[in-house]
Amino acid sequence: MKRSLTLLFLAFALALPLYAQAPPAVVSSYSLPREETLFQVSSLSALLNGNYDGWTTFADLKKHGDFGIGTFNALDGEMVQVDGQIYQVRSDGKVYPVTDTALTPFAVTTYFYPRLTRVIAVVLPDLPALEKAIDALRLPGLPCAVKITGSFDYLKTRSVPAQSKPYPRLVEVVKTQPTFEFTNVTGVMVGFWLPRDFVGLNVTGYHLHFLTADRTGGGHLLEAKPRQITVELEPLRQFQLILPEEIGGAAGGNVAEETTKVEN
Ligand code: ZN
Repeated sequence: MKRSLTLLFLAFALALPLYAQAPPAVVSSYSLPREETLFQVSSLSALLNGNYDGWTTFADLKKHGDFGIGTFNALDGEMVQVDGQIYQVRSDGKVYPVTDTALTPFAVTTYFYPRLTRVIAVVLPDLPALEKAIDALRLPGLPCAVKITGSFDYLKTRSVPAQSKPYPRLVEVVKTQPTFEFTNVTGVMVGFWLPRDFVGLNVTGYHLHFLTADRTGGGHLLEAKPRQITVELEPLRQFQLILPEEIGGAAGGNVAEETTKVEN
């Protein structure tokens, strides 16, 4: 008898857990305006581990913001959202329109409402100089949406090719990333600065994507030499993170180390 009870217990313990329905949502009155909210689909660590299957439609993403960056199902390129429009910079360097039914595995958006605008009319020699200039303008410690519009003597970007299963880790994918160079170009940079609190959740520091003014080129920003730019900043005090129901992939690796590798 005792043995059969033990077996019964083991059978329950080994069975796949069945989750009950989520509890009804609690309505809280403490919520900041949508303009101060960073809305994020999935986490960077999930993406680093190869969770590239899209699960959120761009129609849904657009309900949470008009300004953002991300990627596409199967990691098919770099996403730039500006003035509500979503663009796909694929690994051929070209820009494609995005349908509302397309899916993303990882994206960040907000309603862009700049709280500070500054014109920088001197040539900045490189991306670190640009980042330093923005450091002096943004509120320290707070996540910040960054929009930079203007002309650039030089820019270097990258995109990533669509992946097939079994998905490799992101650090492997970026080893063969195609890069693109632009000289004397006008356009817009879209992205965010995030504090170290976001390690594992998102890219910390600056993460910018570029789109040419004629919307024919762009990508994840690697190098920049701005000539004349307008910087617009929006501090973000609220963070909303939505995770997929399943996070798989090859876990492991040092998140902070791998983040640096995939960003440069
Ligand atoms: Zn990027």
